Amino acid sequence: MSVEDFLSYNDTMMKNSEERSVVLATQNRDKLRELQGLMLDTNVAVRSLSTFPKSPAVREDGKTFEANAEKKARVYSKRTCSLVIADDSGLEVKALRGRPGVYSARFAGPKCTYADNNRKLLQAMRTVSWPKRIACFVSVISVYDNGKKVATVRGECKGKIGYLEKGANGFGYDPVFVPKGSAKTYAEMSAAEKGRLSHRGKALKLAKKVLLSYLRG
Ligand code: IMP
Repeated sequence: MSVEDFLSYNDTMMKNSEERSVVLATQNRDKLRELQGLMLDTNVAVRSLSTFPKSPAVREDGKTFEANAEKKARVYSKRTCSLVIADDSGLEVKALRGRPGVYSARFAGPKCTYADNNRKLLQAMRTVSWPKRIACFVSVISVYDNGKKVATVRGECKGKIGYLEKGANGFGYDPVFVPKGSAKTYAEMSAAEKGRLSHRGKALKLAKKVLLSYLRG
């Protein structure tokens, strides 16, 4: 091997071993695990906010998923001086004119549980016929570096609202959401099955592309 070949080989090895990291702006361990799993085949380490000094939570007061995700990514990337990704997600139901939408977490009130939300949703949909039970899960992920926007991406999964809760996996509205083309609710699927077709799975794949191309420069 010539000296030139050796130097170029060494340079490539140095670049490959240079680990970069991204901070996921969430306290939700399930979301952290999902993103860490997706980035396993890269040299990008995913860190949680808990590795930084505790700071006040950012208020999600935007009218769109994009506004909330971008606010969280911008504020936390400034506070941590890092590359940060943040997400906002929820369920839009056509017969309810897009509700609960950005209010999905607190649909049944300020301190409600997932069960309260599902009960309220099924009650609101009790007279709606099957063809009109159309819904869409949305996940928006925003990437900011030290206060500067890198990109914002969106993943969607269309489906229907069931007549009753089915399945014990997942969280939130999973037991009442039946993705298009499936006979099962999200809550009747394994995490891997859900990840392949879910709104968040789709958004995460787009976010991964954006991150890798940004880090490559
Ligand atoms: P956030 O993105 O953590 O603010 O989520 C908002 C709310 O949307 C959650 O509290 C859930 O009620 C609902 N949600 C978001 N993603 C999912 C999902 O994958 N399954 C079920 N519910 C979800």
